[in-house]
Amino acid sequence: MTEQTTWIGTSWKMTKTLAEARAYARVLAGCDWAPGIRPFVIPPATAIATVAEVLSPGGAVLVGAQDAHWEDEGAWTGEVSVPQVKDAGARLLEIGHSERRAHFAETDERVNLKVHAALRHGLLPLVCVGETAQQRAAGAALDTVTAQVRAALAGVPATTRVLLAYEPVWAIGEHGTPATPEQVRDVVTAIARVAGPARPVLYGGSVSLDNARDLLDLPQVSGLFVGRAAWDAGGFLALADLAAQPAPQAPGGPYS
Ligand code: PEP
Repeated sequence: MTEQTTWIGTSWKMTKTLAEARAYARVLAGCDWAPGIRPFVIPPATAIATVAEVLSPGGAVLVGAQDAHWEDEGAWTGEVSVPQVKDAGARLLEIGHSERRAHFAETDERVNLKVHAALRHGLLPLVCVGETAQQRAAGAALDTVTAQVRAALAGVPATTRVLLAYEPVWAIGEHGTPATPEQVRDVVTAIARVAGPARPVLYGGSVSLDNARDLLDLPQVSGLFVGRAAWDAGGFLALADLAAQPAPQAPGGPYS
């Protein structure tokens, strides 16, 4: 019997000192994860090595990077490359978060370059896609998101493993409104049609203990990508516990 994989992950964005990162990682390092739960943590670049060391390379909790340049090295002041974040212990690379798209000129083309860079070095890409409130109001949510997915995956063989996260821009952060399960179902179904059924699609955007169950119960959703609600280790564990509780069978990702 194939085990259903449920991904539970968090990006800490631009939060946490090394001491805070280490303390959080130590809590996770002491956990026994329920079968099928695939936890991941994405610290700021400064803390990747610290967190990876505590969580031990090859351990149950995947450590990721929030971004990396598409070139392997060179005169790119302020940037870090995929080989560098890999060297620090990252095994996953978050790409195309809406904050990077909005504030750091992260175009679809760059997202695609970064997906290829991650794959070249054996990191699992986690591609974030999502429409703005204006695009949704204009009835363009599905077109926007599927175009982002198509662009991100251009030139990537259909069998290559890639994680996706549907993160509506209007649902993210302290002013965000969580998407309803119906909205998530419709968009994630469209994403899966473009990305292929074997690629897990997570949901992110104001996930909390209040809405996680309904989102996890969607058969189209293979897990949750969480911000604020998992910025303390207790919040992360509570969501992982919830995800481990029985739910209707769902088609999940093949990666564990
Ligand atoms: C995010 O920024 O990707 C995110 C999901 O944040 P939050 O859960 O805090 O809305």
